Amino acid sequence: MHIAIIGAGVSGLLSALELIEQGCTVTLFDQQHAGQAASWAGGGILSPMYPWRYPREVNHLAQYGKQLYQDWNKKLLPQTGIDFEIHETGMLIFDEADFEIGLNYKDQYQEPMQHCEYLSREKLKQVNPQISEQFQHAIYFPQLANVRNPRLLKSLVSYLKQHPLVEIRENTWIEKFNIQNQKIQSVQTTNGQHFSADHFVIATGAWSNCWSEQLQVSIPVEPVQGQMMLFKSPENWLPTMCMNNVMYLIPRTDGHIVCGSSMNHLGFDHRPSITVQQNIYKACVEMVPELANFPIVKQWAGLRPSSPTGIPYIGKMPELNNLWANFGHYRNGLCMGPASARLLRQLILKQETLVDAKAYSTQRLKLSEGAGVIL
Ligand SMILES: Cc1cc2nc3c(=O)[nH]c(=O)nc-3n(C[C@H](O)[C@H](O)[C@H](O)COP(=O)(O)OP(=O)(O)OC[C@H]3O[C@@H](n4cnc5c(N)ncnc54)[C@H](O)[C@@H]3O)c2cc1C
Repeated sequence: MHIAIIGAGVSGLLSALELIEQGCTVTLFDQQHAGQAASWAGGGILSPMYPWRYPREVNHLAQYGKQLYQDWNKKLLPQTGIDFEIHETGMLIFDEADFEIGLNYKDQYQEPMQHCEYLSREKLKQVNPQISEQFQHAIYFPQLANVRNPRLLKSLVSYLKQHPLVEIRENTWIEKFNIQNQKIQSVQTTNGQHFSADHFVIATGAWSNCWSEQLQVSIPVEPVQGQMMLFKSPENWLPTMCMNNVMYLIPRTDGHIVCGSSMNHLGFDHRPSITVQQNIYKACVEMVPELANFPIVKQWAGLRPSSPTGIPYIGKMPELNNLWANFGHYRNGLCMGPASARLLRQLILKQETLVDAKAYSTQRLKLSEGAGVIL
């Protein structure tokens, strides 16, 4: 079976990986280099921030993230030589209003990843001595980890490029689908080339709304900009991830610390701004004052594929027999990525699914009036 996947972010790349493992052949298309968009720009926390603020469906997929990434890292590393570092740092949350909710959440759902403990100042100091004196207590999630996502993407692209069942076509914008009898026959590039396949997957992240008009369905996904800042501290200087007021610090093993983020509706503009940079800097130094002693080595912004509830669309597109969705992961596409791709593969190949697929169905998309007539 041959599958064409449009979009080579984490959603498209992991979908390709899942499908070739089952013997399918895959062609991946991206308008730019593979693995450069939101999936590169993100922080890589392997859990929704404050999981109780998200629907259960988001947490369901996210809970597989750490284990599946560990499995993939083991498999890909010998071939690629790239370790994408699932860094098990745990996470501290300082928002007092969330303490009780967080502790109750863990009692209610018994998800091992979301196990959390209350820490007094004394304990907090032992767990992370860099935290400002201003914080007298915290809740601590010892199981939470982060993935070094730029390396994850490098590893995925390297592995897939070496694989005999995969072709990656970069710098190739897919402009339209050629549809006959409710079936996609081929995709068409801007320079008029056609590519056919048995099945087609839309994994186009923040750009997914571009298909609304042609497919006569309203796709409520739009870009939401998030800005990041990268510090360089000594190796293992900051022992845990930290979170306060939706701002976070994510330590990597070599001492880099990724800090963010912001939420701005600016269309497809992904230029960082000074005002946002100042806000992030202030929030980070408030949590860990000594960060001010270390250099800022990079700043960037990326475009999250927002969707109304944050629950991604995974499944067959309405009215079409061989077009599939894997988009709309909003703030949690890295942690939901491995399970989303597995679910998609299981649906395409008619296998038993790891979660109930209904909740992710594209039936939630509204058809335009008269849709289906010209498809
Ligand atoms: C600042 C920031 C911090 C984040 N932090 C986290 C985090 O800590 N944890 C977490 O789980 N998630 C996080 N996220 C969210 C996560 O990054 C996204 O949900 C995820 O990367 C979406 O992946 P994707 O593959 O769907 O989209 P993308 O990575 O954006 O990939 C889509 C790809 O499709 C291509 N494309 C689009 N249209 C076409 C077309 N017509 N033809 C060809 N190619 C096309 C694009 O070029 C792009 O490469 C963060 C995001 C941002 C911006």
